[in-house]
Parts: sequence; structure tokens; C-alpha cells
Amino acid sequence: MGLIGRCIVGFTCFMGCCFPACSNNIDAVWHSAPHTSLESEKVNNWLHHGLEKTTLVLGKLEQPTVPVYIHAIEYANEPVPWGEISRGNIDSITLHVNTKASLWALKEDWTLYHELAHLYHPLLAYRDMWLAEGLATYLQNGVMLRSGIISSEEFVQRISAGLARGERATRTFTGTLSSVSENMWRLKAYQRVYWSGVAFFIEAELKLQEEGVKHSLVGLIARYQMCCRKNASAGKKGSALHFLRQLDNLAGSKILEPLYHAYGIRRNFPDITKQQVHLAALYYLPLKK
Ligand SMILES: [Zn+2]
Repeated sequence: MGLIGRCIVGFTCFMGCCFPACSNNIDAVWHSAPHTSLESEKVNNWLHHGLEKTTLVLGKLEQPTVPVYIHAIEYANEPVPWGEISRGNIDSITLHVNTKASLWALKEDWTLYHELAHLYHPLLAYRDMWLAEGLATYLQNGVMLRSGIISSEEFVQRISAGLARGERATRTFTGTLSSVSENMWRLKAYQRVYWSGVAFFIEAELKLQEEGVKHSLVGLIARYQMCCRKNASAGKKGSALHFLRQLDNLAGSKILEPLYHAYGIRRNFPDITKQQVHLAALYYLPLKK
């Protein structure tokens, strides 16, 4: 077990909002001992980098420490073939890691950013899986763009390709989005569920701007950590409606709740244009130094 943590003194400011930068710890717990100290150092370096980049964009996590359970995989086609969240008094992350992967390849992989993004929202019911996976997938790409890991062209390309897969999958997995989400694992309807959720957050992001809300989505998510996340944790399934109402309250608007109701009963895939994806990318461009 190795505890690493570093606090960057200062604040990160974006679109008129400022919040404390990194002050969380990330704690690597190896399922079996690492083969070499170099391997352990590489994984610690990667986890620390991922937490730092994520908190710089999304703000400080409510929980002080993030335990990460590492399963070393000897052979895999990807640097991180599997990741998942376990909810509890303190939420943790489990990652299956190809320890042969270079530090560069680990930092380029999306899985850690995705799992960390999940820690910003409470545990949600299966019927709201689309909301949880949509938020983590959208924010993962936002963090990678802001951090310079992907370019804005790659952001647009990745999101557009995902939305196209989601649209194709909607022809196979019919029914309302909430009913398909409830059965996502059994149906293997991941593409429809994840990418309908990403469409929701692109639509929400642009609506917040259209209605003159002074905070972007990440500004609201950062504020939610400070006011409300603690009471929505402890492993209990939170209500998606309650989560979105709290974000709406922080925005001083009523945008997310009606959009949530409209998405839950959707039978078709949302129509998001490439232009809208380009507009969403603007929120995550690297900040000028
Ligand atoms: Zn996820």
C-alpha cells in the first residue's frame, strides 16, 4: 500500500467560478504485490497525475482520499482493460492494469479519468444508469481535453463517434431509455445507455449557457461537492431527481429536471449535431497560462 498525495496551493477558476484545486489523496492498494519498485512507482505516478488533472477541472472531491485497488494484468491489449467503482462510506476504484504499459500509455488511457468522474455523483438506481455513465463519459473527455491529453478535434471525433454508435444501438435496444438502462448489463446495451447520457449532458451544457446561467456544468459539479455530495453518499442509492434538482438550485434555474424527465421516456436517440459537440468542447479548452 502506498499513500501519495500532493496539494497544489491555489484555486482553479473557470467561466467566472473559482474553487479549491487539488487537495485529495489517492491511495494505491495492490491486490498482489507489484513485481518491481519501478512498477509501483509508475502506477503511483499515474494515479497521482490522474487525480491532479481531474480535480483541476472538476474541483476537489468531497471524500478526502480515493482508495484504488490495483489488479496487475500481465497480458492485455489495452493499458487498463477494466475499471469500476465500489460505493461505501468512502467510494473506491478498482482498476485492472497492464503493468507492462508505459507511464505515457497509462496517462493517455481514459479509464482512470472516467472512474474518478463517477466519484463526483452519488450512486444512482439502475434505471438512471444512463445519467451516471453519461456524466462520467462526458466529463472524462472534458478532463482529457482541458489537460491537453486529447485535442479539441479528438474530443469532437470521440464524442461524435460515440453518439453514432449510440444511435445505431438504439435500433437494436428498443424501449424507453430508463427501461433499457435498468437492464443494461443483461442486454449489453452499453452503447445506447452511455451515449444517450452523453447527449443529455451536451444538451444540458448548452442550455445552461442559452439561459444565461453563469456556471457551466463543471462549475455546478464543483459546487455540488461542497454543499451536497456528502449527504448523498454512504453507499445508498441516491435519487437522480434529487441530484439534478440540487444542480438546478445551484444554477438558479430549472433546466436539468425537465430534461431528465424527457430523456427517461425517450425511445429514440437524441439528435446532437457536430456543431453542438464543437460548442461543448469550448468549455474544456486548456486554460491560457
Ligand atoms: Zn462508468
